Amino acid sequence: RTSCPCKYSFLDNNKKLTPRRDVPTYPKYLLSPETVDALRRPTFDVWLWEPSEMLSCLEHMFHDLGLVRDFCINPITLRRWLLCVHDNYRNNPFHNFRHCFCVAQMMYSMVWLCRLQEKFPPLDILTLLTAAICHDLDHPGYNNTYQINARTELAVRYNDISPLENHHCAVAFRILARPECNIFCNLPPDGYRQLRQGMITLILATDMARHAEIVAAFREKLEDFDYRNEEHTTLLKMILIKCCDVSNEVRPMEAAEPWVDCLLEEYFMQSDREKSEGLPVAPFMDREKVTKATAQIGFIKFVLIPMFEMVTKVRRHSRETYTSVLACTGTHDTHVCAHMTQAHVDTCVQTHMTQAHMRTHAHMTYTSAGTHGHTCGHM
Ligand SMILES: [Zn+2]
Repeated sequence: RTSCPCKYSFLDNNKKLTPRRDVPTYPKYLLSPETVDALRRPTFDVWLWEPSEMLSCLEHMFHDLGLVRDFCINPITLRRWLLCVHDNYRNNPFHNFRHCFCVAQMMYSMVWLCRLQEKFPPLDILTLLTAAICHDLDHPGYNNTYQINARTELAVRYNDISPLENHHCAVAFRILARPECNIFCNLPPDGYRQLRQGMITLILATDMARHAEIVAAFREKLEDFDYRNEEHTTLLKMILIKCCDVSNEVRPMEAAEPWVDCLLEEYFMQSDREKSEGLPVAPFMDREKVTKATAQIGFIKFVLIPMFEMVTKVRRHSRETYTSVLACTGTHDTHVCAHMTQAHVDTCVQTHMTQAHMRTHAHMTYTSAGTHGHTCGHM
């Protein structure tokens, strides 16, 4: 067990955080005008690209959103930082650099589709994009439940409170603490303080154990949502990163489908290990119990769709987002039907619980893993 990847030691971290003073050399992939254009939409094909190309895309997002200009980000530092971020994602079946790219690309799409730049100051846009890129840094491939049950180093360090998310966030700031990777070195102290607080809030919000709590708090503000109220906007930003984190199923079928296999592979890796270590096994991770369809259906219906729908209620422009993000990419019906018939869906839903019941007991449901699986991997 000492060589276990999730029994993390700071020594391992430091190895990956060796200073890079060189001018980063990832082959700058010249993005074609078509790519640049497609990158702004949720239909972007996320499977088409090599890591160096994804790095170029991420780099482009900072320039395109005016963040390099607004925050005097050194373009070379930006590349070094991105390379360092890339190096600190592990090659997990699901929680890897491509997942990071997907979440960031969906956030970038949302900025354009929801015209977030009209409603949020540049610092918030910077926070949203950076948090999306950093949100799963150094994910070990085994979830919080495993960390806690196996009493790993991470669980002990963070007292069982969102051990993974705390770790992702700490690694993010350890990278930024390196002068050669500090893209925020030109921010005024107050700007940095706000950005750091914002990133911590957003990355910690990606723990699915807090899903019900966050959704309920946001729903309460929906009626009289006010962009001048910081509590309101913070909750909206939390919902936005949560949407992006679980947005694979919002993408076209061809892009979404392979992620299900990736997630199940990671789940099976965990459940096999739990069995061998005599730890409790969640049914949605058990290769004997879960199927591709059951892993999808409850999640899409009860987590993904309601959350995207809430975002559309915030403002008129977002209605367009919903149309383009959920409907135009053919999300619910296409995906759901591809996996099972409507009759099967209904039975599945009835057997488990009604939507209202789900909402009230979402926390219990999604943390005790008694019913549906899901595709976000943050349980
Ligand atoms: Zn994630």
